[in-house]
Amino acid sequence: IKEKQRNYYNLFDSSISENFRIMLTMESELRKALKNGQFELYYQPQKNLIDNEVVGLEALIRWNHPDRGYISPNKFIPLAEKTGLIIDIGDWVLMEACRQNKEWQDKGFRPMTVSVNLSAKQFYQRNLLEKVECALQETGLEPRYLELEITESMAMANEEEILKTLHDLRKLGVLVSIDDFGTGYSSLKYLSIFPISKLKIDKMFLNGLQRENQAIVRSIIHMSHALNMKVIAEGVETIEQLNFLTNEKCDEMQGYYVSKPLPADKLMEFLV
Ligand code: C2E
Ligand code: CA
Ligand code: CA
Ligand code: CA
Repeated sequence: IKEKQRNYYNLFDSSISENFRIMLTMESELRKALKNGQFELYYQPQKNLIDNEVVGLEALIRWNHPDRGYISPNKFIPLAEKTGLIIDIGDWVLMEACRQNKEWQDKGFRPMTVSVNLSAKQFYQRNLLEKVECALQETGLEPRYLELEITESMAMANEEEILKTLHDLRKLGVLVSIDDFGTGYSSLKYLSIFPISKLKIDKMFLNGLQRENQAIVRSIIHMSHALNMKVIAEGVETIEQLNFLTNEKCDEMQGYYVSKPLPADKLMEFLV
């Protein structure tokens, strides 16, 4: 048994240090990626369910790794958050999304909103407002064409400060939406207090759309409208889901049924 234990602990130790080594490598690779322009934004169209027009785009980051190819954000955003690198990455995303959106407007496309995902660290930064202002100023994008996505848990912590941030953003004229609505901790109280423009119904509630999920989706739509918010459904993959959402007067949708997230040039082809 002793022998076995020793082996077990050795294994344990070496797997910890192995993980640690991978983390350190990845951290320095993430820094390099930012410096060397290995990040790229993909854009997923969001359609208005009334006239079927593309009214928005969600910017989703991809890491184009020189050896490992495209890496999904789920694989590196958590580490970027832990190391604080998310701040620099997030600054880049904000600037690039605004720049690209303005470029499309200048090319004559019907103006669309671009949505940028904010991580908690970014949202709690003291100078978030200045950064947003700076991105708008430098790119010339009008504030109403920028939307920031936060999650429920981010909005629910530290009430007073968040409320101030949200009011400042609203004064500036940018939109704020709550991402993955229904999956985190939330208090309905805050929804009536916070100046939020839109709820994004998480894709888990569209799964198969069995009766229970239908009731939840329907309720979120009604609640959003009662509170003067718009509502968008994420992860729409089938015509059945789309029909249900249209019947229930959901405002917008995004999902593979319309399009996967696309690189900028492909998105432009999609729009024409
Ligand atoms: P999210 O913000 O909830 O983004 C939606 C995710 O669902 C995206 O995954 C998108 O590609 C995927 N998706 C869209 N339509 C469908 C569909 O019909 N079916 C299914 N099964 N999936 C669909 P992606 O691009 O891999 O991003 C994953 C997460 O990474 C995002 O989840 C977001 O939390 C985070 N993320 C992405 N870009 C950024 C960024 O620039 N900054 C930060 N902080 N987080 C980001
Ligand atoms: Ca999002
Ligand atoms: Ca989401
Ligand atoms: Ca998510």
